[in-house]
Amino acid sequence: MSVAGAPRGAQAFAMATPYLGRFAPSPSGLLHAGSLVAALASWLDARAHGGRWLVRIEDVDRPRSVAGADQLILRQLTTCGLVPDEPPVWQSQRGPLYQEALDRLTSQGRAYPCACSRKDIEQALAAQSRPRNRHGERVYPGTCRAGLGGRPPRAWRFRTPPGPVHWHDRRLGPQQQDVEQEVGDFVLRRADGMWAYQLAVVVDDADQGITQVVRGEDLADNTARQILLQRALGLPTPGYLHTPLVLGANGEKLSKQNGAAAVDTAQPLRALNSAAEVLGLPPHGGPVALALAAWQLQWRDSYNLPRD
Ligand code: GLU
Repeated sequence: MSVAGAPRGAQAFAMATPYLGRFAPSPSGLLHAGSLVAALASWLDARAHGGRWLVRIEDVDRPRSVAGADQLILRQLTTCGLVPDEPPVWQSQRGPLYQEALDRLTSQGRAYPCACSRKDIEQALAAQSRPRNRHGERVYPGTCRAGLGGRPPRAWRFRTPPGPVHWHDRRLGPQQQDVEQEVGDFVLRRADGMWAYQLAVVVDDADQGITQVVRGEDLADNTARQILLQRALGLPTPGYLHTPLVLGANGEKLSKQNGAAAVDTAQPLRALNSAAEVLGLPPHGGPVALALAAWQLQWRDSYNLPRD
């Protein structure tokens, strides 16, 4: 018999896995159908593990942040019954943590200043006849690795080690990416002074003690970069699960950039049922709390987590 009436197996599992999950919206607009899928999945995974769930507002990209969108997102989540276990944090207030990480990387020779403009990078790539990567992005040609050559620094980059990074996704299975070949030395602090998503997310996930990252599949190919940063900073690598994307009528993934409509949380159950369907969960009637409880059990079964 165990304390608090919990079966021994579930209790041992809970002790071995102090699960801490998070949802990390960028306040560039309201939640759309795709972001609600990530929010629901991360909440369900945390609850199904008997863990805690946090919300972090990723507003490092100031020019893309919309005033007031953070509070509206928090309200949309609350209406859908997705309430964080601790007060949310805002990345815009965490600059000193990111600076500390950048200083550490720089002092270890893992980060370096870069003087290149986009045009410089284009020209260097053209001179090397190197193509853009599969997303049409420029692979940084490494121009400033050996120094700035007297030019003023603009951005800061991570010195990417050679070789593939292997990682496991709980839905997508084994993954790998050669970051040096496919991405190149990526930006940690932008030329406009903004902290790059890659650095902020790695510092925050570790600082907040996040053990499982559950987010949309469109973010999956950032994972190898984040793992390299975790290793360079001596931080643990969390588990990863990337959820299916919601596609718009044109077959493209929904995003705020391509004008995805905000989720209508005036009808939370309807919004949640649509998100649940994307996750392969059956529809439920109200109230919201009961639907969430039912999905939590179904999530537990589909990911073979112990019942308590
Ligand atoms: N802030 C990112 C977004 O809204 C999510 C980042 C993450 O979950 O790692 O798309």
